[in-house]
Amino acid sequence: MKLDVDALRYLSKEDFRVLTAVEMGMRNHEIVPAELVERIAGLKHGGTYKVLRNLLKHKLVHHDSSKYDGYRLTYLGYDFLAIKALVNRGVFSSVGRQIGVGKESDIFEVATEDGTILAMKLHRLGRVSFRAVKSKRDYLLHRRSYNWLYLSRLAALKEFAFMKALGEHEFPVPRAVDCNRHCVVMSLVQGYPLVQVKQLQNPDEVFERIIGLIVRLAEHGLIHCDFNEFNIMIDDEEKVTMIDFPQMVSVSHRNAQMYFDRDTDCIFKFFSKRFHLSFHYDKDGCDDSDSDLEEDGRPSFWSIEKSTGFLDKELAASGFTRKDQDEIEKFIEGDVRETVSSDDEDFANENQADNDDANAIVNILPCMQLVEKEASLDRENGDNTDEHPKEPKIAEVIHIGDEINDYDDDCRTGSEDGTPVLTKRLNRQRQRAVAAARGGRKAVVSRNSYKEKGGSKSSHNSKLQRQSCKLYS
Ligand code: ADP
Ligand code: MG
Repeated sequence: MKLDVDALRYLSKEDFRVLTAVEMGMRNHEIVPAELVERIAGLKHGGTYKVLRNLLKHKLVHHDSSKYDGYRLTYLGYDFLAIKALVNRGVFSSVGRQIGVGKESDIFEVATEDGTILAMKLHRLGRVSFRAVKSKRDYLLHRRSYNWLYLSRLAALKEFAFMKALGEHEFPVPRAVDCNRHCVVMSLVQGYPLVQVKQLQNPDEVFERIIGLIVRLAEHGLIHCDFNEFNIMIDDEEKVTMIDFPQMVSVSHRNAQMYFDRDTDCIFKFFSKRFHLSFHYDKDGCDDSDSDLEEDGRPSFWSIEKSTGFLDKELAASGFTRKDQDEIEKFIEGDVRETVSSDDEDFANENQADNDDANAIVNILPCMQLVEKEASLDRENGDNTDEHPKEPKIAEVIHIGDEINDYDDDCRTGSEDGTPVLTKRLNRQRQRAVAAARGGRKAVVSRNSYKEKGGSKSSHNSKLQRQSCKLYS
């Protein structure tokens, strides 16, 4: 999905206020009644509707009037909220080219004020649902109220927590820098995904190191679960870095052995095919009963001395709880009876489902407490009135304003407990809004007809668009 951060500099304090109001409303609504958005945003003189029109124009929200007049965030809207929060925290100040397209993520270069380049991963859980990926088809079977915002936020938090904990245990992973909503910022790995590497100086050594990582992870109580040539980066010195952690599970998982064997298998197969490594087991030199290896030299899951709960403390420190783990595991395994319900990549497909789900109460973004802080949003930066430049150049400088204040910090770890008073207040507002909507209130803005333009799915950097915008401040 194209991330046109350029639009960020034209958004005013009010735009962000209303965008945040939609996000907050989505805690309890898949489609947030316009009335509720207005009440949460609290702008004077019906200003919210004007702002909503602007947000629609920039494709930051999606309009749905099938059951009542309502809105929800698009991925782009969610991206903007996360980016804005991270810029305000000083994590980075500009967004550059896209460097990766994963199954369920987009990865961009970002730069800090002092020019350090980092990687920003925007999770897109649910996107896969709308692609012809057979193994994930069952997500669509019971398309109900699992929400991509919630899942993407969970995936990001999990990735951040694991990356941090693994780094602290000296696993070769990117340095975890920060996390907000569905966005993880990490150090940029200098190198290429192994899948793009045609030749290695020392394939045996690299292979040993990679298998060693699977074993060491298991010793720490973990299985990567997606350990393959796409998630292993390798640099010119043949140093290995592993990435992509949202699907990791504990060795105590009921399918642990299967996942472990699958990870091992992927590496064996890849090295055999790409680098023509042959694997044989020297039975003569080894006592079978005592061996850590299977017949063909694969590590045996059961022979590894595993310590479960080893990283629990570190994970908890990042705000990732066992409940979060259970939730995301359910989704990733496709065990859930419900599924992701919306994705702005495919509005054409989802309109019907939205109609079905318009009244579903979904448990998503825990931002209720932010209502209180809303009142303290900073003044809009005066620079925002610049004319829209035709095409952002690499070195072009666009700053994100400071107008969004620290409310975004609350979305970092996403505690689930909205205050009861606010919950009540929002529920009351919701009831009023739904009642008003049912009373025949007309839609203010016509349905957003945005459709995914069918962007490239290329996973090769060469095909990716070059774009760099410094974000205004
Ligand atoms: P997904 O979960 O969608 O598979 P990944 O985390 O595997 O996403 O990232 C997809 C691609 O983005 C990787 O194959 C890699 O090319 C690139 N990438 C991801 N993280 C980094 C990073 N920290 N540094 C450099 N490139 C990265
Ligand atoms: Mg990946």
